Amino acid sequence: MHNNKIQKVVIVGGGTAGWITAALMAKTLGKTVDITLVESDEIGTIGVGEATIPPLIHLNNAIGLDEKIFIQETKATIKLGIEFDNWGKLGDSYMHAFGGIGKNFPFCDFHHFWLKAKQGGNTSNYWDYSVNYQAAKKNKFKKLSGIEGTNLPGVEYAYHFDAGLYAKLLSTFSQSMGVNRIEGIVNQVNLNDNSGFVKNIVLEAGRIIEGDLFVDCTGLKALLIEQTLSTGFEDYSHWLPCDRAIVVPCESVESLTPYTRSTAHESGWQWRIPLQHRIGNGLVYSSKYMTDEQAKDKLLSHLDGKPLAEPKVIPFKTGVRRKQWNKNVVAIGLSNGFFEPLESTNIHLIQTAAIRLVKLFPHSGIKSMEVTEFNRQSKIESKQMRDFIILHYKLNQRDDSDFWRACQRMEVPDTLTKKMALFAQSGKVFREQDELFTEIAWQQVMIGQNLIPQDYHPIANSLSDEQIFDLMKNLKILIDRTVDNLASHKIFLEAL
Ligand SMILES: Cc1cc2nc3c(=O)[nH]c(=O)nc-3n(C[C@H](O)[C@H](O)[C@H](O)COP(=O)(O)OP(=O)(O)OC[C@H]3O[C@@H](n4cnc5c(N)ncnc54)[C@H](O)[C@@H]3O)c2cc1C
Repeated sequence: MHNNKIQKVVIVGGGTAGWITAALMAKTLGKTVDITLVESDEIGTIGVGEATIPPLIHLNNAIGLDEKIFIQETKATIKLGIEFDNWGKLGDSYMHAFGGIGKNFPFCDFHHFWLKAKQGGNTSNYWDYSVNYQAAKKNKFKKLSGIEGTNLPGVEYAYHFDAGLYAKLLSTFSQSMGVNRIEGIVNQVNLNDNSGFVKNIVLEAGRIIEGDLFVDCTGLKALLIEQTLSTGFEDYSHWLPCDRAIVVPCESVESLTPYTRSTAHESGWQWRIPLQHRIGNGLVYSSKYMTDEQAKDKLLSHLDGKPLAEPKVIPFKTGVRRKQWNKNVVAIGLSNGFFEPLESTNIHLIQTAAIRLVKLFPHSGIKSMEVTEFNRQSKIESKQMRDFIILHYKLNQRDDSDFWRACQRMEVPDTLTKKMALFAQSGKVFREQDELFTEIAWQQVMIGQNLIPQDYHPIANSLSDEQIFDLMKNLKILIDRTVDNLASHKIFLEAL
């Protein structure tokens, strides 16, 4: 395909995507390849993206970022899960809490025991057995890998942070590891006549930058992957009907809740993300059912404090590039695609793409099998993510708006239909290969949105009704006691 050794990598774009890619590459491949990042202060970054999921901790560790510095510099808070209000029916509330729930038995998840207990008349809530949920609702946090003296899971966490500050931190870090930063606007991309590969990019000031491999991190512009290579886009918007977001930060309030809140409204949903110094807010909506003006009014009337800026509308289309890697261009970040931030997946997708590129790095030239494998993994990942996000929309019982009724009626991917049917009939749900979302994540959304299985696994019958009753009672005592002994979220942050 292209047998030239890859010696020079050019990353175009310095948002979260560009700098995560630069930092990871510098740390892992920096001794063998030359890395340049081109960004334009004049164009700037998208300036949103504040909620993350637990694997970000592994990324920071891999890069060598100290957690204390990271939390201080990015004004981060702890995130234990995402609370979903009004998603099943109006008035409902549940959480996709990170980490485990209850106690797992060999070959049989805890929720089967909970379902048996429920059929026997136990009225406890599934989240009574989640340490993360209980801690989140009491504004508590402490690093805890497991409940002492047991094999029960402890607290699993992620962060809310200022993505702009994170990019800045990674920029300093990457440059200290040898990444060459160039400021300027790219206004031309030249292709090699024979191969169709990108030969060089040209800055407004006339400077030409050559490279062997280009990483397109230009955000929604997709300057190389789409504007230059016309790679094509797989549109998911017939399943995910929201196409706009309006965002505004507001003043902080006294208690720093260690979870994201997602509140469904009549034509979409609103997020609330508490940082140390402010709260990030945004309303995601469908322009078919709501005007920008209506969205702005709705957003501003549901803030905890005074707005700190003028609300900004961001139009988007949900979906992904047909190929994340095309010729000698790899698209990472918004240039590759976008999922609304319902499950905080976009920064995670940057992380996995950057890791995948390092793992499949074509040091001796771009080979078709490496490119094919990269794109295969990327496709599987985005389809799994797509299904999980669609689930939230499909599985609603709201009858108060055309938007939600249309979501109930819509055809969903076959893979999702089968997953929901299997769970409805048997309570069984399986994580696909390396899928990001665990069985427990799927269970929480399905149970939280009122899909209560008709049956449970027979292994749950290995305990008598009395034993199940004791199990539930003892677990709850243990979890409540554990949570009572955690420090407050605020104290944890102050101690840093
Ligand atoms: C409304 C909304 C909410 C979101 N919330 C979350 C969330 O809670 N959690 C999450 O994980 N993700 C979230 N995301 C996604 C997240 O913001 C992005 O994935 C992340 O910020 C990465 O953006 P990026 O680096 O791809 O693009 P950008 O931040 O847009 O960066 C693009 C870069 O390319 C440069 N550039 C562009 N054109 C040129 C050019 N011609 N020459 C030189 N440089 C150029 C720009 O200057 C900039 O440096 C959200 C996104 C949106 C739209």
